[in-house]
Amino acid sequence: MKVHVIPVTRFSQNCSLVWCTETKKGALVDPGGEPDRILAEVEKQGVELERILVTHSHIDHAGAVAGLAERLGLPIEGPHRDDQFLIDSLTEQGERWGTEPSRPFVPTRWLTGGDTVSFGNVNMEVRHCPGHTPGHVIFFDPKQKIALVGDVLFRGSVGRTDLPRGSYETLVKSITEQLWPLGNDVAFVSGHGDISTIGNERQCNPFVCDLVLEQE
Ligand SMILES: [Zn+2]
Ligand SMILES: [Zn+2]
Repeated sequence: MKVHVIPVTRFSQNCSLVWCTETKKGALVDPGGEPDRILAEVEKQGVELERILVTHSHIDHAGAVAGLAERLGLPIEGPHRDDQFLIDSLTEQGERWGTEPSRPFVPTRWLTGGDTVSFGNVNMEVRHCPGHTPGHVIFFDPKQKIALVGDVLFRGSVGRTDLPRGSYETLVKSITEQLWPLGNDVAFVSGHGDISTIGNERQCNPFVCDLVLEQE
């Protein structure tokens, strides 16, 4: 599997173009905006898109999902159905945050922990990681040891929990119970900012490193 990050929207959200290197079939993860720029990159890399994957339904991650799915005739997989209220509010989210116009979509398939999403010969495991939003999911490729974690965990930080139906306690539980077991050598791409590894965050993250959590 290969991952190519395309930062989109004024929030510099990391839309990921992922594909199977054997078949060149791939998926878009979190196309939050700037669809023309995303499609130019898809063409440049010569990837044949099979589906759109969504970690959660904040505007910077899901803003262009409806438009792209319709334009390309692609199925939408994710997020978890607990994000329905955010999908319903995509138009209002776009107006409130001043992004390009957006609209709701109907996922072809809701996801939950234990599910698998596939493109080409790549299979990614789905884990349900609520806290930032209640329906947040992440995608994990155990072969390549790469995870796409959206706004759950960042290099040196964690997802905000002050937005509707966020919960800091639930977020920390998702991180320690769903992300830490993936393994210290797993690299992850976040919704914003630089890539990191699980091991690095367990050692250095000021919010959730082992030392900090042990003291609580
Ligand atoms: Zn978010
Ligand atoms: Zn975000």
